Amino acid sequence: MSRHQEIDPIEAARRLFAGPVEFRLSAPALEFLPDPKVPEVAFAGRSNVGKSSLLNALTGRHGLARASTTPGRTQELNVFDVGAPMRFRLIDMPGYGYAKAPKDVVARWQALVFDYLRGRVVLKRVLLLIDARHGVKPVDNEVMDLLDKAAVSYQLVLTKADKIKPSELEKTLAAADAAARSHAAAFPQVLATSSEVGTGIAELRAAVAAAAGELV
Ligand code: GDP
Repeated sequence: MSRHQEIDPIEAARRLFAGPVEFRLSAPALEFLPDPKVPEVAFAGRSNVGKSSLLNALTGRHGLARASTTPGRTQELNVFDVGAPMRFRLIDMPGYGYAKAPKDVVARWQALVFDYLRGRVVLKRVLLLIDARHGVKPVDNEVMDLLDKAAVSYQLVLTKADKIKPSELEKTLAAADAAARSHAAAFPQVLATSSEVGTGIAELRAAVAAAAGELV
C-alpha cells in the first residue's frame, strides 16, 4: 500500500501544497520550458478571471502569482515547481479574451497556447477557470473546443463564488456542468471556488494533486 492511501486526499493534498512551491521561469515560447520530466497541470481562463488569486490561494503563498493590474499583459507561460524534490509543475497560462488586446497579442496567445497544448506530453490536465458571475462565455467555449481538438483533459473551475448568491451559484454550476458534458475532453465535475473566502480551495488542491498523479 502506498503511503498516500493511509490519509484522505484532501489532507494529502494540503500537505503537498504546504511544502515547497517555487516560481521556476516564464517561457515566451515552448523551447524555453524546462525538460518535460514531471507531470504538469495548467491553469487557463479569461483575463481577470481570478487566476493569480487562485494560484496564490491554492499554494497558500501571497505573492507567488502576480495579480496583474493590466489585463491581458502577461503573455508567457509561468512555471512553478511543486515539492522538493520536485514532484510536478503548475503552469500559469496567459489570460485570454481581453477585448482591447491588439490582434498581434491574440495571435501570439493562440500560437503559444496551441503549441503548448498540442506539444507538451507531460500535460495531465488543464483547469479552465470561469468567473462565477459570468458563467461560460463564447470565448470559453472556443477554448474548450481547442482543448477537445488537442485531446487535453480539462476541468471547469468557477472562481469568485463569494460574489454571487448561493441560488445563483447553483444555476451557474448547473450551466457549467451542462457545458462540460457537451465537450468530449471535459472532466464531468465542476468545482466552485473562492480565493477570497477559501471555498473549494481544499478540493481544488486535491483535484490538482490527483491530476498530477500524486494521490493514486
Ligand atoms: P487574473 O487576471 O485572472 O490573474 O485575476 P486576478 O487574480 O488578478 O483577480 C482579478 C480581480 O478579481 C482582482 O481584483 C481580485 O482581487 C479579484 N478576485 C480574484 N479572486 C476573487 C475571489 O475569489 N473573490 C473575490 N471577491 N474577488 C476575487
